[in-house]
Formats: sequence, C-alpha cells, structure tokens
Amino acid sequence: MDPLKILFVSPEVVPFAKTGGLADVAGSLPKALKGLGCDVRLTMPLYQAVRQGKFLLRKVLENLPIPLGGSAIASDIYEGELAEGLPVYFIERDEFYDRLNLYGSAKGDYFDNDRRFSFFARGTLNAVQALGFQPDIIHCHDWQTGLIPACLHFGRNPDSFFRRTAGLFTIHNMAYQGSFPRTILELAGLPETCFSPEGLEFWGRANLLKAGIVYSQIINTVSRKYSQEIQTEEFGYGLEGILAYRKADLFGILNGVDYDLWNPETDFYLAAHYSSPDLSGKKICKKDLLNRLGLPEDRFLFPVLGIISRLADQKGFDLLAGIMDPLLSQEVSLVVLGTGEEKYHRLLAELAEKYPKKLAVRLTFDNALAHQIEAGSDLFLMPSRYEPCGLNQIYSLKYGTIPVVRATGGLDDTIIPFDPQTGRGTGFKFYPYQPEALWSALEEALEVYRDQTRWVRLMKNAMAMDFSWEASAREYIKLYLLAKERLKGF
Ligand code: ADP
Repeated sequence: MDPLKILFVSPEVVPFAKTGGLADVAGSLPKALKGLGCDVRLTMPLYQAVRQGKFLLRKVLENLPIPLGGSAIASDIYEGELAEGLPVYFIERDEFYDRLNLYGSAKGDYFDNDRRFSFFARGTLNAVQALGFQPDIIHCHDWQTGLIPACLHFGRNPDSFFRRTAGLFTIHNMAYQGSFPRTILELAGLPETCFSPEGLEFWGRANLLKAGIVYSQIINTVSRKYSQEIQTEEFGYGLEGILAYRKADLFGILNGVDYDLWNPETDFYLAAHYSSPDLSGKKICKKDLLNRLGLPEDRFLFPVLGIISRLADQKGFDLLAGIMDPLLSQEVSLVVLGTGEEKYHRLLAELAEKYPKKLAVRLTFDNALAHQIEAGSDLFLMPSRYEPCGLNQIYSLKYGTIPVVRATGGLDDTIIPFDPQTGRGTGFKFYPYQPEALWSALEEALEVYRDQTRWVRLMKNAMAMDFSWEASAREYIKLYLLAKERLKGF
C-alpha cells in the first residue's frame, strides 16, 4: 500500500521559528508520523528567524506566481529538512515575512496579517502543486492556516489537483481566531457566498478559525477535555455553537513530547544530567539556575518554583498576582521566564524590584533558560484560566519538577493529584479560578516538600509518566483516514 501522504501546514515549527507550543507540536508530530510510515511534508513562511537561523535551505522553485487579490506576486520556494526525509517548504516573500516577530509585537498584531496569511495559504497550495506533491490530507493548524480548507472546498472539482485531498484542522487555542475585514475573501480568491453565518462570517467579519472549522472534514483539538470545553460558552469564544454542531467530527488528541529535546538524561542545555534512579544532577541544575539568575545561593535549601509562559490573560497571572505577597513571605524562590502583554511585563518587573532576593524575572524568549528552569526548579506553576493542552507541565513531569496546575483542558488530562495516603499521583491541582484555591494547592505542595521522602516518591512518579508521541500519532492517523472517508460525502 502507498504511504499516506500528509501535508502539514503550520505557521511555526521548531527549530525554525517558535512562539509557543504549536511550534513544538509541528516540530515533533511529523517525525512520529514518519516513524509510522507516512510521507509527511511541511510548509511554513520564510520568516526572518528562519533566514537568521543558518539552516541549510535550497531553492526549489523560482518566481512561482502566487495569486493575491486579483494579481499575482512571485515567490521563491525553499526546501529545508525537519529531519532526514522530512522536507519543509518555505514560502518566501520578504515584504511579508522578513520581520522581527511572527504575528505582531507586544503592541498588537501586524496590520497586514490578512495579506500575509492569504499569501501563505495560496502559496502553500501552489507550491506543493508545482512540486507535484498530491497529498491525501492537508493537516492545518490554527487560524493562520484556516483559509486553506476554504480554498480546497471552493476549488474542488473533478479536474482539480486537490480533488482527493481531505482536510484535518487542529485547534491549538480558541481565543486566537484571526478576524479580518471581508476584503480578505478577494485577497484569498474565495467567493462572496462563503461570507455567511454558515460559512466563515462571524459578526460581520471574516473569521479564519471558523473557516478552518467549517470547511475541514475533521476537526480536532489538543486534549480530550478541551475538545469538550470549547463546546461551551465559557471556552468557545463565540464558536461553541458551530463546534457543538460539528461534534460528530470533533476530536481531542493529547499532544506528545519530543523526548529527544526534553529529557534531563540528555538535555543539551543543562549543567548536569540526571535520571529517576540518580537524581543528584538535579541539585547541580538547581544551583546553576540560582547562580544564573543572580539569586542568593542559600536559596538552594528552599523550594524553587518555576514559571515559563506567554504573558497572556489565559495563563492565570491575575491569580498569581493575588498570592505573590503571601508566597514570597515564605522561604521559597520564584523564577519567571516569559514575554507577552505589556501589563504583565510591568507587573512582574515591579514585583522583581520588591523581592530582589526571592524573585527572578526574565522578560525575554530564551529556549536555553526554559530548559534550565525545567531542570533547576522543584515545582512548576501553571494556574491557567484555560489550557488547550499545555506542554510545560508535561516537560516538568519528565524533569521531576512537580506541577501545580488548575484543572482545566490538558492540565486536567495530564496531571494526577498526589494522594499522601497512597503515595500515588504526579502533581497538585485546584479547581475554582480563585487565588485562594491556587494558594491552598501551593500550601499542600509545600507541605509535602518538607517531607523529602514523600517528595522524592512524588518526583519519581512524575518522571515515570510517558507522553511520547507514538500513541497520539496513531490517533492522528485514524483521523486522517476518517477525514478521507468523510470527503466522499462532503
Ligand atoms: P502555549 O502554546 O499556550 O504558549 P504551551 O505550554 O503549550 O503553551 O507551550 C509553550 C512552549 O513555549 C513551551 O515549549 C515553552 O517552553 C515555550 N516558551 C514559552 N515562553 C517562553 C519563553 N519566554 N522562552 C522560552 N520558551 C518559552
């Protein structure tokens, strides 16, 4: 049997460009799919970060015309490799992608994201057609790719190159929907008829996440719990109705982890390696982290709490703000790495000034430091208001860094509350979105920490958890086959 041919379209992919967990997924799931025999190829924009990353790229198409709003703009297409036998096609157009960030700055989104991502959608389709890659499935991720299922739908006819190509659309976060004026239809070459409540229209604008949902054969999100939550008003951000309507085609598959990158036994960025049978290296990592961040060495004797996060409302910083004073009056240290909204930059900078000996804040994007925090902390905080999957709590488990999480989305699906009676469990969870609830989960965690025998047991439980991709990749293959099946009746 021919291998299943999958075109994997993501606006960010590790190691080429990253703002969050989507990039981790796009950099690792294709490897697992290839391991299961699929022919997988990827496309992404040729951002400035890719150009500067010194990756080995070769030009495979020159001056490929890409339609945009009634005219055509030329693009060179470059090919790189995610791993051996896993090509990534980069869609080039410097006026769109040669910028400092991927989607915008702390001040807001880039003004021309409608043009940038229309061009990416049409560029993707034209590039793979020109290269002769006829996929069984186009697997799209998030609003930046939502025009692709719409283009496939409206372009499908008995002669079209993509006539047998079905679409799977993965939602990594409902809150980011890509809302644009209706002029985007002309840019992307879509008919006016799709601008209706049954199509991609949403409150008088074109909504690209909705386009992905409406025009894909199958939809999924990145944990089972979140796939249920988004069908409710609280988490659906206005699209709960359409998701509930499509619930027979809506699935939840938990993200996996690339343990080649996130493993304390081999992690390239650590001062020392360690494993469940020999935890001594974790102490070295803890000292190294305190030194690096300029926290006093005597802090080593007390728990270090870590946070690595986009600084966005979703991530629970208002809860954290509510407990900062009682928390930092205890014998603990807190390290925070993050970038995002300005109000949180300000809040954290002020707190760091107030607690210079206990709180270290780094308002940058720093992959090496992210690994060092995972290894050097004792606890990891993720009090998210909602969390589609969340990767950092899963990385934390592997590093024996005990997660304290709110029971929502993937956090609820991945963390088992520690039961001091039985010694089972992997972390601490709280339910109501209230500072008091976070505080009592933290108090419980710090109480267990004081009994190092129990704490080591908890660490070992956490480190034994396995979230490698293979099981989830098999689930994805089932969805690909189902999407092909559904295409017949679409
Ligand atoms: P989200 O995708 O909502 O941002 P996830 O927990 O799924 O959250 O994934 C976040 C990913 O981004 C993790 O790999 C995390 O280590 C990384 N990350 C987030 N902020 C930073 C930062 N400031 N520096 C380095 N890595 C970061």
